Amino acid sequence: MKPSPTAAPVSRRRFIGQASAVAALALAPRLGRALDAPSPARKLGVALVGLGNYSAYHLAPALRLTRRCRLTGVVTGSPAKGREWAREYGFPDKNVFGYESMARMADTSDIDIVYVVTPNGLHAEHCVAAARAGKHVICEKPMANTVAECDAIIEACRAAGVRLMVGYRLRYEPHHAEFARLAREEVFGAFMRMDGANGFLMDSPSSSGEWRTNRKLAGGGPLMDMGVYVVQAACMAKVEAVPAAVTAKFDPVTRPELFSQVEESVRWTMEFADGAQAKCHATYAESVSRFRAEAKGGWARLDEPAFYYDDPVLTTSRGRVNLPNVNHQVAQLDGMAAELQSGAPSRAPGEMGRRDVAIIEAIYAAAKSGQRVEVKA
Ligand code: NAD
Repeated sequence: MKPSPTAAPVSRRRFIGQASAVAALALAPRLGRALDAPSPARKLGVALVGLGNYSAYHLAPALRLTRRCRLTGVVTGSPAKGREWAREYGFPDKNVFGYESMARMADTSDIDIVYVVTPNGLHAEHCVAAARAGKHVICEKPMANTVAECDAIIEACRAAGVRLMVGYRLRYEPHHAEFARLAREEVFGAFMRMDGANGFLMDSPSSSGEWRTNRKLAGGGPLMDMGVYVVQAACMAKVEAVPAAVTAKFDPVTRPELFSQVEESVRWTMEFADGAQAKCHATYAESVSRFRAEAKGGWARLDEPAFYYDDPVLTTSRGRVNLPNVNHQVAQLDGMAAELQSGAPSRAPGEMGRRDVAIIEAIYAAAKSGQRVEVKA
């Protein structure tokens, strides 16, 4: 049974993370029906789809602290749990929906954004339903299991005239934003050698959501869940360039009882057109979270835990960078709400989520074939 939304936050799952600004990938700003002429005085209404760990312990509590948006609805398989959330967060029972009744959200004026926080393999179905109900969509990472699913989400949002964003919280985090600036402005020159890793020790699937070891629901193993942050950081270090090609190798499986459907760990190299390389690792076999990028004139490093929910530490060859620490989810939610209200391009548009899934598809193809695989994003 899931804990109630008021239960104390669980610190075990302080993993899952990633990284800042994107001109090349900017989604053409398009205000959708739900937000035409938004009033700055009005907080945008957010409905969470899926009331699991990330919703209950991170997003919903953050929505109590946000200045530009608030929780006004939920989509859940349990109406009783939905009503409990409605009481706890002060929204009407009519804004509790089932997965099969998401179309009815079209009739609600106090839900502007639908935030999909279900297992990866269900993102496409739930994002398409949200778009068809005329709501802006935030889709958790990774955007979907396949590029084809990403395309279906993008097309549904385009057809409905709503915005699409991916839950890349670190795009709104100051240390990661500074890392992006160092790359963009080539403060040390172009980053040419990167290495990074992200993972946690999964001791039993039930401690992390059974679906994470189920191929259909997760799309893959730690590469999908944790590796996507390293892919994000590597692309950020290359100012959002798509790698030309990848090579990859699965690590040997040490716990076949857990990892019969998805990999336990995978290592890969991203090769960029200018000769830069990123050596990366994603794993469910150890707790690790770091990223380093080196240029001719210096280096920058996001130390452990680079991608978790904790305060990141950014150090460069000039010393430690002092920046404010923020609540990642509050920064992301208010940042996305501000983008919607102003019509500014998103820092985490659907196209970026699609790019990363295309890179991940190439990494899996390379690991399975043992061949170098060109990335088509
Ligand atoms: P979870 O298992 O705790 O919650 C999943 C929710 O989906 C549950 O409420 C479950 O009831 C619901 N669900 C609906 N249909 C389901 C089905 N057929 N099978 C299983 N569950 C079903 O998972 P979570 O950790 O909250 O992760 C949810 C999503 O959020 C994932 O895409 C994950 O990658 C993402 N996430 C992102 C971050 C981040 O930092 N951005 C952190 C954690 C999770």
